Amino acid sequence: MKKIALLGSTGSIGTQTLEIVREQKDVKAVALAAGRNVRLLEEQVREFGPELAVLWDEKDAEELKARVRDLPVRVASGMDGLLEAATLPGSELLVTAIVGMLGIRPTVAAIEAGKAIALANKETLVTAGHIITRMAAERQTPILPVDSEHSAIFQALNGERGNRVQRILLTASGGPFRGKKRADLEHVRVEDALKHPNWSMGKKITVDSATLVNKGLEVMEAKWLFGVKQEQIEVVVHPQSVIHSMVEYEDGAVIAQLGTPDMRLPIQYALYYPHRRHLSGERLDFSRLSSLTFEKPDLETFPGLRLAFEAMRKGGNVPTAYNAANEKAVALFLGRKARFLEIPEIIQACMEQCRFREDPTVEEILETEAEAHDFIESRW
Ligand code: NDP
Repeated sequence: MKKIALLGSTGSIGTQTLEIVREQKDVKAVALAAGRNVRLLEEQVREFGPELAVLWDEKDAEELKARVRDLPVRVASGMDGLLEAATLPGSELLVTAIVGMLGIRPTVAAIEAGKAIALANKETLVTAGHIITRMAAERQTPILPVDSEHSAIFQALNGERGNRVQRILLTASGGPFRGKKRADLEHVRVEDALKHPNWSMGKKITVDSATLVNKGLEVMEAKWLFGVKQEQIEVVVHPQSVIHSMVEYEDGAVIAQLGTPDMRLPIQYALYYPHRRHLSGERLDFSRLSSLTFEKPDLETFPGLRLAFEAMRKGGNVPTAYNAANEKAVALFLGRKARFLEIPEIIQACMEQCRFREDPTVEEILETEAEAHDFIESRW
């Protein structure tokens, strides 16, 4: 029985991870952590029987404790709870499926405790990639990507050790506004941005897909995960989302991973790596795929992607400013307090004003986040 801890169990990735746990029967979730969803976490505790359940707020944790007092589960709260879940003795692997930089400290703690990481929480690598990858290399801890594009690249790199990668071709669906121009996006509503053409995901990442900021974050994530240079990463818009990403080698061979858009596949691959398991669900039917198309991303209309390359080039804590500003800007947009086109404007303003730190520590990353949030609150 493989024991795992899951942070973000009530979210999109979290619930799909638990679907795999339910289906496969030889994985046990020994710790489940969530933000505020007491009701769903209670259901999960009843079904999956973890040793530890965590909610962010102490009050919510108290409520959960009262609701599950008939069960032998410990309930904890806050960052201490997340750290306890991440380092729980007996668990082999931490699935990080919470949103935001909150994931950094539990990931660091889990690596220190010798746990393998199945990483969905891309913000962790974007902002603290230099720390996480260094630590993981020193301790030989595997960081297994859950993001579908990175899982595709990871799969395309299998068995190619020692061969030179020329380029990483990161595919992007283009989101719901592909083909639109800036003028068309002036009056975009929240409902429009939440209509992703291919994937069903949490709200924040769905808006990030519409702005192409998600792709920007993924470019930075790829740099750290695969140890490549910025110039080696190219974004290719592929609206059908059939090819999940590709690797080109120095001889010109391109290896791709294809499949239906189903996040359970990369999640399951990370849980069982290097083994594959049967996964229920639709299969690609090539006779019904009329065409696979590719185009360049429109950086004029979607400056969020251009800014990500700029943040990566500047390095240090600039990716943190990029990410923190985006989190706040998306929250403002979802709260109908900022327009869609303001999201990249807010990011750019934050990147320009952030106090530069070349090799930020975790504390400095969190300080940069707070500075960016304060800056935005004072302006928007
Ligand atoms: P969701 O918004 O669906 O879920 C977020 C999860 O984090 C929920 O369980 C939420 O709990 C929990 N959470 C939020 N705040 C806290 C907190 N303070 N303490 C503990 N838990 C908290 O997000 P997604 O599942 O879509 O995304 C999760 C991560 O995976 C993100 O980093 C995203 O970029 C990445 N990712 C997602 C993909 C997808 O298909 N969804 C694809 C690739 C990457 P609650 O609901 O109880 O408040």
